[in-house]
Amino acid sequence: MSLRLTKLDSPRVAGYEEVWVAQDPDASYHAILAVHNTQRGPALGGTRLMRYANDDAALTDVLRLARGMTYKCAAANIPLGGGKSVILEPPSGYDRAALLRAHGRAVESLNGRYVTSVDIGTGPVDMVTIRETTTHVTGLPNELGDPSPITARGVVRAIQAARYVRTSSRDLHGVRVVVQGCGHVGKALALQLHALGARLIVSDVSNERADATAAECRGEVCGPDEIYDAEAQVYAPCATGATLNARTIPRLKASIVAGAANNQLETNADGEALRARGITYVPDFIANSGGAIYLCRVLAGWSDAQTDAAVESIFDSSVEVLRRAEQEGISAQDAAEQVVEARLGIRA
Ligand code: NAD
Repeated sequence: MSLRLTKLDSPRVAGYEEVWVAQDPDASYHAILAVHNTQRGPALGGTRLMRYANDDAALTDVLRLARGMTYKCAAANIPLGGGKSVILEPPSGYDRAALLRAHGRAVESLNGRYVTSVDIGTGPVDMVTIRETTTHVTGLPNELGDPSPITARGVVRAIQAARYVRTSSRDLHGVRVVVQGCGHVGKALALQLHALGARLIVSDVSNERADATAAECRGEVCGPDEIYDAEAQVYAPCATGATLNARTIPRLKASIVAGAANNQLETNADGEALRARGITYVPDFIANSGGAIYLCRVLAGWSDAQTDAAVESIFDSSVEVLRRAEQEGISAQDAAEQVVEARLGIRA
């Protein structure tokens, strides 16, 4: 019960509204909470609970993720800002409930400027524990349902936008798409693409999940390491981040990349490498914004119609960014960041 909050004030956090280190030794609690931007509304961002090599690695992660949330919400034109929190997981023998309650108190201390939810290492049941000490939490069981089908629909619109920019048609009949990851989003994506006439190749580190998805979408399976060489027009990363990098980009046969995974580019230079290869890339924070849009049902009281309209608008946002990238001879990532920064009136 001895929560201590220290506000960080260093060049590392310039451009962030507030960044706090929160500690409660009685609960083995050590976390960093970052609020990047609340211009559009409360800063939304999940709680990541994992081991970090050191405090600096945790700070790097939370800053990158909080800023990413600002960009995602602004790109989707939703009334939320960007934030994130990371809890540095203690080595062993800690009381998870006490840790999460301490985190709730830290979240509560920000008076609603930051709203937390699930992320890597936390799930809906943990949000119930966090709810004991703060009201500023979403993602509780039965509150929302699974956002993944909506996220997948947004990815479909991003793929259609890329196809439209390249061919003036959004038709996906006969288009070969390779989907990496057959989890919540990847499976829903494969099924939605199948319904639109696309031909699927799917991959997962779990053979069982890959086989089950392939059976449902009448697709083929390829191994996790072969995916970058797959003969497909579209590559849809729906598993982990940083799969677009100096090792994978030269191998891609696809002319379009759009998927649900967060932080798909290992570095921004990889966005330039995709452009140099003539690959149309829809930046992840646009393609996967359906998940954040879905949260507006709870956080902003949106109706189904409002949610639908926002998800459909991922097509137009993607076209806008891809055309701007073409006109200015810059990567789609840079173009997307510029569009969002203009919308927010900020400079990176
Ligand atoms: P998930 O955990 O349900 O599925 C991920 C799948 O990827 C699992 O089946 C896993 O076995 C597989 N996988 C892991 N490493 C792989 C690899 N190297 N090759 C092939 N498969 C691999 O997660 P999800 O909810 O489907 O989310 C997928 C991605 O999309 C994540 O990066 C997530 O952060 C992001 N995302 C999800 C949502 C959402 O609505 N669920 C919204 C926005 C972004």
